[in-house]
Amino acid sequence: MIQVNDICKSFDKLQVLKSVSLSIADGEMLTIVGPSGAGKTTLLQIIGSLERPDSGSVIFDGEDITRLKDSRLAAFRNRNMGFVFQFHQLLPEFTLEENVALPALIGGTARGEAIAHARKLLNDFGLGSRLDHRPAQLSGGERQRAAVARALINDPKVILADEPTGSLDSHNRAELYRLFFDLRQATGKTFIIVTHDDTLALSSDRVIRMNDGNIIEDSAR
Ligand code: ATP
Repeated sequence: MIQVNDICKSFDKLQVLKSVSLSIADGEMLTIVGPSGAGKTTLLQIIGSLERPDSGSVIFDGEDITRLKDSRLAAFRNRNMGFVFQFHQLLPEFTLEENVALPALIGGTARGEAIAHARKLLNDFGLGSRLDHRPAQLSGGERQRAAVARALINDPKVILADEPTGSLDSHNRAELYRLFFDLRQATGKTFIIVTHDDTLALSSDRVIRMNDGNIIEDSAR
């Protein structure tokens, strides 16, 4: 369970989040929608502990993660949160299996074990023949599937995705929906997804609509 309490965040003089609160149950698939500049990505990054709020708290399974020191926060994030971004952010100089294994290696998993796990995930996602390819040798859809595999390598409880279908054509978008829904079904992970993609939002359990730094609609209410 994630509890977001009265989060405020400004960049310079611009107040981007104006006392935002919400709670997210385990296993929920929640989408955050709204116009550009509404504060969606900033909220996602604060929930994912990539960004710190100016005030307010994020309680993750009873622990206030906004109070963790940077070093503990990085370890917490690596263990509990998997990120998928609009652009895959795979490292170009590494092979696919190395890219997927990276969060496990950072978390201290032995190389052989991390690579074996990465291979299994890539196989599961239909990328078993691409293990030693570099990201530039893959299609956009394949890169995004690999990015999802990387997000899963540490078996995090929560997947946070920022415009995960934003760079994909309709065929690959449909594949990503299926991947997310299958994963959710099979693993019970929590999904928090910022999106402009109506199909994805309408298929989720709960839609949070933001405007000008506030939640203006929550379909769960
Ligand atoms: P989009 O749909 O376009 O991605 P969004 O709803 O996700 O928009 P945010 O990315 O959260 O919006 O940004 C909200 C506002 O905060 C924007 O005006 C943006 O320019 C500003 N902003 C975000 N991050 C920073 C930053 N690191 N420094 C300065 N301003 C920022």
